[in-house]
Amino acid sequence: METDERRKAGMGTRSAKMHSKSATDANERYSEQSCSRESRTCQRTDPELDEQIFATLYGQCIGDAIGLLTEFMSRRKADKCYGHIKKLEYRDKIDDDHRKRWDNGDWTDDSDQMILIMQSLTDKNGDVDPRDFARKLVHWKENGFRKLGDTCGLDIGHTTYAIISMNDFEQHPHKASKEVWEESGKYLAPNGGVMRTSILGIHDWWNQNKVYANAIDICKTTHYDPRCQASAVAVCTAISLMLQKRSIHFKQTGEYIVETIIEDAFREASTCLHSKHEKDVLQKCLRCVNLSDLKLDEENAIGYTYKCLGAGFWALKQNDFRQALQEIVMSGGDADTNAAVAGALLGCKLGSRKHFPETWLDLKNRKWLDEQIDKYLTVLKKRQIEWNLMKEEERRPVKVHRKPMKAAM
Ligand SMILES: [Mg+2]
Repeated sequence: METDERRKAGMGTRSAKMHSKSATDANERYSEQSCSRESRTCQRTDPELDEQIFATLYGQCIGDAIGLLTEFMSRRKADKCYGHIKKLEYRDKIDDDHRKRWDNGDWTDDSDQMILIMQSLTDKNGDVDPRDFARKLVHWKENGFRKLGDTCGLDIGHTTYAIISMNDFEQHPHKASKEVWEESGKYLAPNGGVMRTSILGIHDWWNQNKVYANAIDICKTTHYDPRCQASAVAVCTAISLMLQKRSIHFKQTGEYIVETIIEDAFREASTCLHSKHEKDVLQKCLRCVNLSDLKLDEENAIGYTYKCLGAGFWALKQNDFRQALQEIVMSGGDADTNAAVAGALLGCKLGSRKHFPETWLDLKNRKWLDEQIDKYLTVLKKRQIEWNLMKEEERRPVKVHRKPMKAAM
C-alpha cells in the first residue's frame, strides 16, 4: 500500500554554478451549482483574487523549499539537525549528499512539476492536455529548467520515473500509467500525483465540474491508483472552493468555514473510491487533528499519498503559516512534498503572501516564478471572461467518466 516515491535521477544539480456516485448525478449537481457560483465569481476584485492565487502557488514552492531541509529524515534526525533552531530558514539547510544539489531557497521536483502543468495550460490556452503535459515531463526529466541552470529533472519519484520512461508514454500517458499500476498489483499509491496538483484547483476554479475532471486527467498521467486520484481531487476541490468564497464556505466576517470545505472535498474525492473502508480511510486522513497521528516519518511508507494529503488538510486547519509548516518539516519523512501541499492549502486559506515569513518569500527563482504565474494568469482571466459571457445553456457540464475502478488492495 505504501511506497517510497523517490529516486535520485542523475547527478545533475539545479545550481547554476555547477551544478460511486454516477457521472450523471455529479453533472446534474454541478450544472445547478455553477450558475449560482458564477454571480459570486464576478464580485471578486482582480487584485484580491490574484494575490490569493499567488499565495497558493508561493505556498507550494515555499513549503517545498523549506521542506527540503528534512526530506527523507526521521523525526529524530530532523530534531538532531535542526531542533536547536527556533525559526527555520533556507540557509539552515544541511548540505549532505542529497540536499547539496539545491541552492538555499530553491524548490524541488514537486513544484517543478506543478510549474510544468501551469506552462502546459498557458501554452494550450487553458485547455488541459495530458499528452502535452507528458511531453513536458519527459523534456524536463532530461533537461530540467535550463533557464534556471538545471542539467536534468532532479529527485523524480520511482513511479513517475518508471512511467515516463515507457516508449508510448508521450502518446498514451493514461495507458502507460495504468499498466505500471496494474503491474504493481494495484499496490502503488505514492504522492507524486498530489504533490503537483495545486495549480489545478486554481484553473477554472469557478467551475467545480471542470476542476474535478482536470485533477483526475493530470493525476492519471502518472498516478492511476484511485487513492492518488482521490488525493488530487480533494486538494483541488478545497482550493477551488476557497477561491469561490461561497457563503457556505466563507463567513461574512472574512473567515473560511473549514469544516464545510473538508466535507465537500471528501464528498468529491470519495467518488474516486468504492468500498466503505476506502472512504473511511480517506475521511480519517482529511480530518486529521494531530499531526503525529500521520506518522510522517514511518519507515518504508513516507511517500504514501494519504500521508501527504493528511498533512495538507491538517495545515488547512491551522492559521500560522510558519508554525504549521515548521511542524510538518520537523516531522521528517517526505517533508518537501508534505509541506508543498500544506503550503498551497494554507496559503490559499490565508489569501495573501503578507502572512508568510518575509525570508521565506525570498525563493531563489522568485522572479522567474512570477513570470510563469503572470503568463498563466493572462490565460486564466481570458477564460473567466469567456465563461461569464456564456449563456447558461452553453455552460454544458463536462463529461466526467467515473468508471467503477477495482479497489486497490
Ligand atoms: Mg521533492
